Amino acid sequence: MKNCVVAKRELLDLIDRRIGEGKEVVAPVKQENQANFKRIKSTREILWEGPQTVIPPKAFLFPQEEELMEYEVNDEIKVKVKVEGKPIILLGIHPCDINGTALLDKVFAENNLDEHYLKKREFVTIIGSECLVPCSPESYCYRKESVLPLEGFDLFLTDIGDNFFVEVGSKKGKSLISEIARKTTPSDTKKLKKIRRVRDNLFDEEQRKLKPKLEDLPKLLRENYDSPVWDEHGARCFSCGSCNMVCPTCYCFDVRDYMELNLKRGTRSRFWDGCLLTDFTKVASGEIFREGRGARLRHRTNRKDWYLFEKWERSFCTGCGRCGKACLTKIVDPLDIENELYDRWKK
Ligand code: SF4
Ligand code: SF4
Repeated sequence: MKNCVVAKRELLDLIDRRIGEGKEVVAPVKQENQANFKRIKSTREILWEGPQTVIPPKAFLFPQEEELMEYEVNDEIKVKVKVEGKPIILLGIHPCDINGTALLDKVFAENNLDEHYLKKREFVTIIGSECLVPCSPESYCYRKESVLPLEGFDLFLTDIGDNFFVEVGSKKGKSLISEIARKTTPSDTKKLKKIRRVRDNLFDEEQRKLKPKLEDLPKLLRENYDSPVWDEHGARCFSCGSCNMVCPTCYCFDVRDYMELNLKRGTRSRFWDGCLLTDFTKVASGEIFREGRGARLRHRTNRKDWYLFEKWERSFCTGCGRCGKACLTKIVDPLDIENELYDRWKK
């Protein structure tokens, strides 16, 4: 079963039954004037088609603070690695965030497998929902080919009236939905295509334009490595790191040890870190390799649309718009920077 349709009410009832059985279901909910992920008690709480959540779903796979191991140092060294996961359904995930998670899946499974991330990932079920209107003025997912998920979901829902059109992305997704799924008809597929045509036109009209071609971004950034734009923007950066914290594809972390005073026992944890923070490149001798704020801003942008783009053949900016919204001085949004570089470069 690749695709199917389900009656909306039946799907919501199914999820409510799972919640009743004690399953942890997390979804975006309204909190004051923002959206945030929260464990829900009923599907009535879900904020469908709301703005992007302040913190992306990466927090459930790669928490802001995570204990990695505990150890004892006696005659021999004993190490207990903490690799834990618990079943969670993440429901109502926007396509851009599914794509962001799929990129993290690649990064954390490359070479040295990150068993902490991968164990959590194994237990998480992702049910995405298609955005049919732009979720916020800051988002530009259409420009980043992120209005639909490429991979990384278990189920993906599109509202086609009384029913959801459901793309099934995994066995986990299939088994969750099989009891209520019906075969798609040609009329369902026709409705889906029409909805997506209308959506594409709307997003193209409403979302800010990316002036360079998407595939030319690595070249644009390479050729503008020494542009004055970096220091001009950097001069207004507070080095607060908010842009890193809210980004669904930023995955850098710092590792700290806490030793008891007797130096016999300790724990090791990791914490989110961010390349815009002053100490990010500080080494033991005290030297900071990327001291200038402009250089740090350049590094972040280059990671998204040059270094990682070339390596993984996909932009590491999904166009979710979170960093542009979070940045108090409005200097960090990759689309704005790239348009400015492009305009000056073409003159
Ligand atoms: S760089 Fe900004 S717009 Fe792009 S994915 Fe990260 S937070 Fe979203
Ligand atoms: S670019 Fe903006 S959000 Fe990022 S560290 Fe600087 S001031 Fe903070």
